[in-house]
Amino acid sequence: MKCPRCDKEEVRVMVKSPVGDVWEVYVCDNCFFSWRSTETINVLPQFKLNDQKIATMQMIPPIPPLKG
Ligand SMILES: [Zn+2]
Repeated sequence: MKCPRCDKEEVRVMVKSPVGDVWEVYVCDNCFFSWRSTETINVLPQFKLNDQKIATMQMIPPIPPLKG
C-alpha cells in the first residue's frame, strides 16, 4: 500500500477497530500521514509531499514557557 500523501510504501497499521474488525487506521512512517480504511483519500496536488519538501519544512514555532 502506498501513502496517499508522499507515495512511499512505508505504511503500517496503527490501530484496528476495537470491535468487529470494521476499520483500520494506517500511518505512513515517512510523512506521518494517517487515515482510516473507510475513508476515500484524495490528497490535493498542492498538499502532496516528497523528500525534498519534507527536508525543507519549517519548524512549528515553539511555545514560550508560561510566566510565573
Ligand atoms: Zn507518507
